[in-house]
Amino acid sequence: MAQMMGSHGTMSERPPDVKEIDILWITAGLGCDGDSVSITAATQPSIEDVVMGAIPGLPKVNLHNPVLAYEVGDDFMKYWYQAAEGKLDPFVLVVEGSIPNEHLSGEGYWAALGTNDLTGQPITTCEWIDRLAPKAVAVVAAGTCATYGGIHAMAGNPTGCMGLADYLGWGWKSKAGLPIVNVPGCPVQPDNFMETLLYLLYQVAGLAPMIPLDDQLRPTWLFGKTVHEGCDRAGYYEQGEFATEYGSPKCIVKLGCWGPVVQCNVPKRGWMAGIGGCPNVGGICIGCTMPGFPDKFMPFMDEPPGGKFSSTAVSAYGTVIRSLRKFTNATLNKEPKWRHNGPTLTTGYGEGVNMGTSTSGKLPNS
Ligand code: SF4
Ligand code: SF4
Repeated sequence: MAQMMGSHGTMSERPPDVKEIDILWITAGLGCDGDSVSITAATQPSIEDVVMGAIPGLPKVNLHNPVLAYEVGDDFMKYWYQAAEGKLDPFVLVVEGSIPNEHLSGEGYWAALGTNDLTGQPITTCEWIDRLAPKAVAVVAAGTCATYGGIHAMAGNPTGCMGLADYLGWGWKSKAGLPIVNVPGCPVQPDNFMETLLYLLYQVAGLAPMIPLDDQLRPTWLFGKTVHEGCDRAGYYEQGEFATEYGSPKCIVKLGCWGPVVQCNVPKRGWMAGIGGCPNVGGICIGCTMPGFPDKFMPFMDEPPGGKFSSTAVSAYGTVIRSLRKFTNATLNKEPKWRHNGPTLTTGYGEGVNMGTSTSGKLPNS
């Protein structure tokens, strides 16, 4: 909706459907707060740009995250109570950390935030999710613990913990009709999270269509490709050149890289400001974005079973192709033979004409 702005031009922005929105970010799942720390490195967009109003078209954004907040105690908690009472609307709920199974906690509890004034007992993380999820306009799981359970949910853990969709149900929808949005990563890649949050804020503002998600509730544009498809070392893999020790620039599949079967854009995007990205900088991909992480990727430093077969097959092809490429490369490293300083033009244009004998002032054959 274009709007006149006087003699200096027009404002082409459509105003957001909502003027102000809160983000309630609970870090009281089972986790390390690493996702909150990670997003402080985001640049596309930065958290500062979002909360300080630098992004055109966004409503005013109020962030409530215990790791990043100035407020403490009751000053911090008041927003949570207001949201639970329906007095803070609209808000986005971000969950960080895996959700413990409080049916298994006996007389204690696994995880909590704040204290119930009436009972003096901690308010469990599960209770907060039960109170807030039905009132949230969108619910986002940040990091692999909150999305799929992560490290805390591996075999043998006593908490029975799980991802948010395991807790609320995979078909769960917010009051605005949005599914849970999963942004996995251990920790979450900073820009992946902020870009997703920005998309949801635009969607709530009525400025973006429904967020596209895959069957694991991941944004499709971020998790549609494998690590291998974006890896700096993929050329070595294709030529059958594999590192046998760290420090080599070659493909590190034999050192334990799971990149060919893991969906993650980190090698393409880098980690901070385009720098880094696991295998690009020598770290094996351990599949930290995947629902099967960590159990299905362990032991981490062993060559993946599928990698043995594929790297053996690629080695045979790669050895032949590599030597053919060396031959072609050697010819491409030489200039064409007609680039010389002499009286005869040998490019093929006017074949064999001696330029030094031309007196007409015209080019040969012109
Ligand atoms: S290092 Fe990993 S992701 Fe990169 S080419 Fe090798 S197997 Fe693929
Ligand atoms: S490349 Fe692998 S280990 Fe690195 S962030 Fe992506 S999934 Fe995790």
